[in-house]
Amino acid sequence: MSEPDARRPRLWAAGCAAVLFAAVAGVLAATTPWNPLPGAVPGGRVRPDSALDFSSAELARARAFDAAINPPAYASLLLGLAVVLVLGLTPLGARLLRWATARVRRWPLRVALAVVVLTTLLRLVSLPFGIWSHGTLRDYGLSTQALPAWLADQAKSLAVTWVVWTVGMVLLFALLRRFPRYWWTGAALGAFALVVAGSFAYPVVVEPMFNDFRPLPAGTLRTDLMSMAARDGVPVKDVLVADASRRTTALNAYVSGFGSTRRIVVYDTLLSSPPPQIRSVVAHELGHAKRGDVLYGTLVGALAVAGGVCLLGLLLSSPRLRRRAGLDPGDGGRGTADPRAVALVLALVVVAMHVAAPLENLVSRRIEARADAHALDLTGDPGTFAEMQHELAVRNIDDPGPNALERLLWMTHPSGAERIAMARTWARMHRHSEPPPLAGR
Ligand SMILES: [Zn+2]
Repeated sequence: MSEPDARRPRLWAAGCAAVLFAAVAGVLAATTPWNPLPGAVPGGRVRPDSALDFSSAELARARAFDAAINPPAYASLLLGLAVVLVLGLTPLGARLLRWATARVRRWPLRVALAVVVLTTLLRLVSLPFGIWSHGTLRDYGLSTQALPAWLADQAKSLAVTWVVWTVGMVLLFALLRRFPRYWWTGAALGAFALVVAGSFAYPVVVEPMFNDFRPLPAGTLRTDLMSMAARDGVPVKDVLVADASRRTTALNAYVSGFGSTRRIVVYDTLLSSPPPQIRSVVAHELGHAKRGDVLYGTLVGALAVAGGVCLLGLLLSSPRLRRRAGLDPGDGGRGTADPRAVALVLALVVVAMHVAAPLENLVSRRIEARADAHALDLTGDPGTFAEMQHELAVRNIDDPGPNALERLLWMTHPSGAERIAMARTWARMHRHSEPPPLAGR
């Protein structure tokens, strides 16, 4: 086979990845609400100030919690990454999989077994740090779960991981075997479809495995929330309550799914809050629903995943990378479909997820701020909004002063102080009285 023939599929894969990533970057640059509260502000925008809105005791507790939860969080992140890289980018993973799948003949079973072995190993590596984190959450009263129940959750989540990864990998290897050179075109399309289908099905397939959901009981709160949704022009069939208190004391609400699976869910822990505060939280969720944030995030995410699959097409056929991973260097041909390559694929996907997370968080924080602006517009009540944000930050023990790395890695929402400052800015813009300082209330 002549050299240019072997190179052509790799050039196309590189081009496909470049075009799709450029498309994602363009869409994000153009559609992310970089300034969620546009307009002139008399007296200027209000700067976040933790000391103004949180007492020294609240700040000290949050700092202590941050210091206690960081070591297991970082250790788990680094060790997990190290193990997946060693397995994928040295011959160790291929050797482990040859041994583990030696007695299995059929390739789909070999791929499935490889997935189960690797994902279980990775979960076991991070398990001690998970137990450590869970202990810290118990110490601070955030977790209400005993260790056996927590372990049962971990087992269930591992089972979900097995199913998702096995389906993805078996489909990937089927394409690899059938179309050794251009498998990634079909895989990119398939991955796009699977991400969209997964996000659609998630609220009705996965969420019920972990929580029970019931409609918010009839009463003034429900009537009030449904009429607010109607006033907002968002068709909401129901507001669901999740039995989150079986796990946590944290307060939360969210929107998941889209189309016929879209739902607004509030944690049962939130129901003891004063009704105006619950209304403020639901108004934020209506902001997500009205903008179709879940569908938008799903489509952009699916496009990025498709680009990632093209990049995988390029990397998986790299003779250097394959040699490094202990695989037959191949010529981008049939040798690519060796089930031992699952370790390399897993490593590349995990690295891609870690690279993408800071960008996802950056965009998420702006989208969350836009939902906050929506809540302020809809309720016209910055005072209650600020009180609720204060309560959320204190109950969930949010980090009042996240450093740059913590912001990058973990922060999907603006900080409590930032959200309260936004309420004050909104009040100035609308000549409303500004929420008073909340520290020591
Ligand atoms: Zn939100």
